[in-house]
Amino acid sequence: MVKPLQPQQAQAIISAAEALTDEAVTFLQGLIRIPTVNPPGHAYPECAHYIGEHLRTTGYEVEYLELTPAEVEELAPYGGNMPRTNVIGRLADPRPGPVLHFNGHMDVVPVGPGWSTDPFSGELRDGRVFGRGASDMKGGIAAQIFAVEAIRRAGLTLQGTIEQSGVVDEESTGNRNAGMGFLVERGYIAAGKTDYVVITEPLNVDNVCLGHRGAIWGEITTFGLPSHGSTPERGVNAVEHMAHFIDAATRTLKPRLQQRLNSHPVVPASASAASISFNIIQGGTNTNSVPDSCSAVFDRRLVVGEDLETARQEITSILEQCARDIPGFRYNYSERYATVPTWVSAETPLVAAFTEAVEEVLGRTPGYVCSPGTDDQRFVVHNAGIEQCIVYGPGEIIQTHNIDESLAVADLVASIKVMALAAASLLGVE
Ligand SMILES: [Zn+2]
Repeated sequence: MVKPLQPQQAQAIISAAEALTDEAVTFLQGLIRIPTVNPPGHAYPECAHYIGEHLRTTGYEVEYLELTPAEVEELAPYGGNMPRTNVIGRLADPRPGPVLHFNGHMDVVPVGPGWSTDPFSGELRDGRVFGRGASDMKGGIAAQIFAVEAIRRAGLTLQGTIEQSGVVDEESTGNRNAGMGFLVERGYIAAGKTDYVVITEPLNVDNVCLGHRGAIWGEITTFGLPSHGSTPERGVNAVEHMAHFIDAATRTLKPRLQQRLNSHPVVPASASAASISFNIIQGGTNTNSVPDSCSAVFDRRLVVGEDLETARQEITSILEQCARDIPGFRYNYSERYATVPTWVSAETPLVAAFTEAVEEVLGRTPGYVCSPGTDDQRFVVHNAGIEQCIVYGPGEIIQTHNIDESLAVADLVASIKVMALAAASLLGVE
């Protein structure tokens, strides 16, 4: 149930959000200075405590979820056995009311060369905060926390419960993981307990993101028979077999996928079609030996409406055709990660509250968009079974994972206002 705010309540929240701009920027700079690079997952406990201690000083009950070494090994197989700590803060109203959970991931992708500034400095220049994670998505974490703070500074008390979480390992995905997947598996976020979930990933401040495309990250290996390079006729060449397969896939499957468009607008629009891309290839050891194996890693993206089983069959049917056409063609197909597309209804109180808030703050109707990549929304919608879960946050998706990643302070503040107004109308204030 969306409870309309009184105009003077909305104005008080907007003024409070503007007044805490400097504090929100300072908090964000502090977050960026903790280099939570994943892989392998550096400085997670430090980052969780930075968020948790801030929440504690503003009245939240804070819980740190530290995974055991065995859990880390199981849920973060590519995490170099580094510690995994998630943080949850709860700001509870003693009376019963809805629970609104804000979530952001603390991890950032590696930086690479070419930056014009220290990627972990959080430098403020020309109205933008620079640094790895400024957009994806430490800006979102700052916004979700200061949105609730703006309501408090406006002299209003939220009814119901606010939860804030910072989680690990979003960037390393996984069918299960040590971050949002762990929170859902352990029942911290659950249907019947959590009413609304907002993940504050960057999809531009004037969009409400209702879902993401699906993905299969897979690996195909071809097997040959080694022989001396001077007598290739005696061997079976696994690299040449792989070349044949990739050629067949790019000639037949790729054009079909390019015709298959997402049913809802994707940001950026260039990612509207299904796709497959072969991104790593490895095979052979030396010039004068016929290679006995070759592996290729692919990234298949599914549009809303596609399913995993069909997507797999489209690839394996090409492999089977190769096996029929080429003597000695043998292969293995495996997957590291697979998720169906996610798309939630726009006809919910959560989407209504964010739509009205975007209209109030930005003066335009938000787009209902689909993210090109996958994100933690999948755990909430598919595993926890919570339909009212959206992605809304500051930052442009084109900034994510870039050299000189940055976030406009104006976007940070706009998203704080939007989240604050939406939270206030969803839970009610007095
Ligand atoms: Zn992200």
